[in-house]
Amino acid sequence: MQIINSIPEMQTFSKKLQRSGKTIGFVPTMGFLHEGHLSLIDEAQKRCDEVIVSIYVNPTQFGPNEDLDTYPRDFERDAALCEERGVTAIFHPADSIYPADFSTWVNETKLSQGLCGKYRPEHFQGVTTIVTKLFNAVLPDLAVFGQKDAQQSMVIKRMVEDLNFPIEVVVAPIIREADGLAMSSRNKNLTETERKAAVTINQSLKVAKQLILDGELSPLAIESEISERITESGGVIDYVDLVTQRSLEEVTEINEPVIIAVAAHYGKVRLIDNIFIEL
Ligand code: AMP
Repeated sequence: MQIINSIPEMQTFSKKLQRSGKTIGFVPTMGFLHEGHLSLIDEAQKRCDEVIVSIYVNPTQFGPNEDLDTYPRDFERDAALCEERGVTAIFHPADSIYPADFSTWVNETKLSQGLCGKYRPEHFQGVTTIVTKLFNAVLPDLAVFGQKDAQQSMVIKRMVEDLNFPIEVVVAPIIREADGLAMSSRNKNLTETERKAAVTINQSLKVAKQLILDGELSPLAIESEISERITESGGVIDYVDLVTQRSLEEVTEINEPVIIAVAAHYGKVRLIDNIFIEL
């Protein structure tokens, strides 16, 4: 397995693979890999000849008071996991991939406005910009993203379509801990008590889904059911929203496939989760 740090080296490596007729699957990550990330690698392996994983904690997608400094990192462990999983190369750039006079941003202007976009105003601009830079470095045929970040995957799909990237975007299901908590690198920063309480997010989403399937059509009723449970467990809510699967617009009545999306803080850790409901 190769470890590549510079953009020109990465491009040369990928072009060589392409010339030899290989397809490239790409999994962008911020590292501190868990089974969720590894499932994306497996998905890319199934669909492509070679898999490239990027590991980069992208500063431009963090707000000024967010957890950039405390975001968990362990490159050695990540590299070992990638090697075990048969990854061809890791792209591990330094912050110098943003030159000092960097002044070009990629912005999606609709899907990125609600949900996390309301609470993290520059987050998606950071995401779309770094993903564009990574696409241009790795030159993949296909890229795999996780449903865990449902809004992110829709924003990326829209960007790829709008800007004609010749890349197929695949979205893979959420991988969870045994008790239902969505796997996340940030879970490491939860205290034991917070970790136990955080399972309420997924539990309340499952209760909400059942209420809808049993005929509850009011988003407000669903949102307050979830909010109460999370608040009672010690979580501090950013949002609990019911949005359409089509456009991520908030619904006033549940009459088409929806996503219930949640962001809540347990202690210093901000967690997100979601559930898709087909009706
Ligand atoms: P991150 O390293 O958290 O930026 O995530 C990198 C990629 O892994 C993104 O496409 C995420 O949506 C995906 N991902 C993170 N957690 C999970 C999970 N529990 N299950 C599936 N995919 C995930």
